[in-house]
Amino acid sequence: MVALSPSTAPLTDGHGRRISYLRLSVTDRCDLRCRYCMAEDMTFLPKAEVLSIEEMARLAERFVARGIRRIRLTGGEPLVRRGIDILAKRLGALLGKGLDELTLTTNGMRLAEYASMLAEAGVRRVNVSLDTLDAAAFRHITRVGDLAVALRGVAAARGAGLSVKINMVALAGLNEDQLLPMLDWCAANGCDLTLIETMPLGEVEGDRSDHYVPLHQFVAPLRAERALFPVDKRTGGPARYFAIEDSPVTLGLITPLSDNFCATCNRIRLTVEGRVYMCLGQDDHVDLRTALRDGGDVDGLIDAALAGKPRAHDFQIERESKPAVARHMSATGG
Ligand code: SAM
Ligand code: SF4
Repeated sequence: MVALSPSTAPLTDGHGRRISYLRLSVTDRCDLRCRYCMAEDMTFLPKAEVLSIEEMARLAERFVARGIRRIRLTGGEPLVRRGIDILAKRLGALLGKGLDELTLTTNGMRLAEYASMLAEAGVRRVNVSLDTLDAAAFRHITRVGDLAVALRGVAAARGAGLSVKINMVALAGLNEDQLLPMLDWCAANGCDLTLIETMPLGEVEGDRSDHYVPLHQFVAPLRAERALFPVDKRTGGPARYFAIEDSPVTLGLITPLSDNFCATCNRIRLTVEGRVYMCLGQDDHVDLRTALRDGGDVDGLIDAALAGKPRAHDFQIERESKPAVARHMSATGG
């Protein structure tokens, strides 16, 4: 097969949106089983279908050459992937050479072990998922997690000089009482806080609509006590940000269901199988793994895929409605 020279043309989709943000899911595996994310007996991908660390690094480098300026490592749980340190260092070497930022989203279970490595690789900010500060509720939501371990992970990240943003999924009946304690805890521990509505991705046990709560309702007790002021903070993500009266915490709200945010979407997602998904909530994708392994036209595939990037997701979360897509969030990378 004739080797094609890599393209450096900037990535732009068929709706004129410039694509500058890559979410890289480095594994579909996880050491937790959060109820809204996975089934308890999840089956994971066989090894042959998973990109090696070298393959992921090569694809990421190709994306940076095409104008990707920010990469977030995610999963599954990125810190359970063997070789994550090698990948972080390899991508960290691109900082200042096209890449502006390397970040990571983690459940925090292994953060105490990896925080200094991440800081050394050039990571400056991490998102840690923490839905509650109640140890029993944490165990219930994650099925197997230990809250104390997650909190030690956050402390280690702060100790290594990383900024930490807590991701909290709003769950009716499971953590509605936790918003005010979480805000106070974030203020005391130097963290920001982003709230997320549950999205209908993949089958989980039970009916997801049982735990869906729109964020305006979840945030109502906070608004009753303190004023929120919109702040113009652009992170390239879907969150809207607010300053809170008498609090150092910046509050982010991600409302894919109650307030669609697709118009300014600047991101694509690369899964550990080597598929590029154009949208978290749609099935459109291209397979780069075969092209990468067989010396095929990776850039041509990326361009063809971008031309067809959907304008928007169409999530719905009604009782007994099917998930928008069969893929779990852990497969595409949240
Ligand atoms: N394991 C890491 C973690 O939990 O931070 C990274 C991957 S996880 C899929 C990324 C984020 O997606 C987490 O903040 C998690 O709470 C969120 N998430 C997972 N499933 C979701 C769903 N169905 N709806 C909304 N958020 C979800
Ligand atoms: Fe694992 Fe993250 Fe999904 Fe929880 S949300 S099961 S920690 S991938």
